[in-house]
Amino acid sequence: MKKSFFKFSVTAIALLLIVSCSTVMITGRKQFLLFSQGEITSLSEASYKEISAKAKPSANKTYLSMVTKVGKDLTTAVGIYAKKNGMESVLEGINWKFEVYESEDVNAFCLPSGQIVFYSGIMKYASTPDMIAVVMGHEIAHAIARHGNERMSQEAVTGAVGQAVGAVLATKSEKNQALFQTAFGLGSQLGIILPYSRKHEYEADRIGLTLMAMAGYNINAAPLFWEKMSSASKSSKIEFFSTHPSDESRIAEIKRYLPEAAKFAGVK
Ligand SMILES: [Zn+2]
Repeated sequence: MKKSFFKFSVTAIALLLIVSCSTVMITGRKQFLLFSQGEITSLSEASYKEISAKAKPSANKTYLSMVTKVGKDLTTAVGIYAKKNGMESVLEGINWKFEVYESEDVNAFCLPSGQIVFYSGIMKYASTPDMIAVVMGHEIAHAIARHGNERMSQEAVTGAVGQAVGAVLATKSEKNQALFQTAFGLGSQLGIILPYSRKHEYEADRIGLTLMAMAGYNINAAPLFWEKMSSASKSSKIEFFSTHPSDESRIAEIKRYLPEAAKFAGVK
């Protein structure tokens, strides 16, 4: 019993060492990823199918054209940056797609496979291209920084070690599906994404600002947007706010990154 557990641990540790050397685009942070991009892509595509089947596309053509324009600008900047820095592999399995769904919910997300969805409810707050770029840059950042994979990986080793690492080693697709849903909170309820850790949130803000600058958007819209969300959330319940707390420390961090992001203006 003890011996087999030892053997199991050695295998698990060896596996961790093999997969532990990934680097986050733009921030350069080292991260631990246990899942292949291919695995994440197929789980993500399956979730997208489920979400889009239940969704009603918004009839507001202005919303869609604004979201699409900003989306193309930001993802083009990502592509150019990745190519320039030899990081194209980060974009493997990502097929960008931009959509607006009819929903009062104030929410937006980007799946790891590249589908970016804004709900019409958030368009009241993200009312200009710069404001849309704040939200979208942040959501794209979660995808290209592979925060979902990282969370799944952490879940796999810390959550229920025996069961989850066993699932990874056996690559049982249903078990991975369950891990994916734990990490993303998708599936049971339309587009409800579990909150990321504060570390991931701040990193997504930082990367998002950089992408905005590269694509020529006004990065000063970021603190303004979060301040707007912060005061709006005092009078009504905003879902995006519950997963993206915009307290003073977050806004202060964003302001702190502005000069760094500004250096990327026009640099792609
Ligand atoms: Zn976020």
